[in-house]
Amino acid sequence: MNDTEPPTTHRKICPPSADVRRLVIATHNPGKLAEMRELLAPYRIDAISAGELGLPEPEETGMTFRDNARIKAEAAAKASGLPGFADDSGLAVDALGGAPGIHSARWAGPDRNFARAMQSIEQKLSERGAVALEQRRAQFVSALCVAWPDGHLEDFEARVDGTLVWPPRGDKGFGYDPMFRPDGYTRTFGEMDSIEKHGLPPRGAGLSHRARAFLKLAEACLEQR
Ligand code: IMP
Repeated sequence: MNDTEPPTTHRKICPPSADVRRLVIATHNPGKLAEMRELLAPYRIDAISAGELGLPEPEETGMTFRDNARIKAEAAAKASGLPGFADDSGLAVDALGGAPGIHSARWAGPDRNFARAMQSIEQKLSERGAVALEQRRAQFVSALCVAWPDGHLEDFEARVDGTLVWPPRGDKGFGYDPMFRPDGYTRTFGEMDSIEKHGLPPRGAGLSHRARAFLKLAEACLEQR
């Protein structure tokens, strides 16, 4: 501690010995980056992105969301010497056996065309005759991982259940948001602003998969100042 930095500015982040003021958000996805920055904002941690640091994107070779979050967080920590913070997430559609799942980004192709990716989900659902709402169940899943340069890891996973609507609605979110209507709501994620989509306390108890995983991380690792 020094005179210019009173203890109340410290963010406690696990492991207990680590006091994090700066971390690297291990994503090149602008939609995700914006959301992760918003989630971290109340904790006054200086967050820089892997894209801004010019770090290479590691190959996501894992078989699960958790594995891929870890690969990205570890790569960012190793390349930057700062804790790396990564999300691996995606949409799992029940009638498609959990697809696109960990391949959610890939379904949009190199040009990240999510209108086409949503169209392709819709086509597969209609080939299976999935018209009734109960045949159109899906979950968004998020695995969050913080990796420290010394090899320590913490990870957290959460999901939000909902129904896929057609046609897509709303232009506020990113990715598959316009097709996903979370249970208990009439609007899709694409029609929600980020405050409603995250549903964070004190207004809510966590709504989006990412916010729910983040609340677990915050409870374990972060203190709001
Ligand atoms: P990742 O960067 O490999 O984790 O790719 C995850 C992909 O899943 C993203 O590119 C989006 O297409 C999709 N995805 C994950 N979270 C969300 C979300 O909150 N809304 C919409 N799409 C999402």
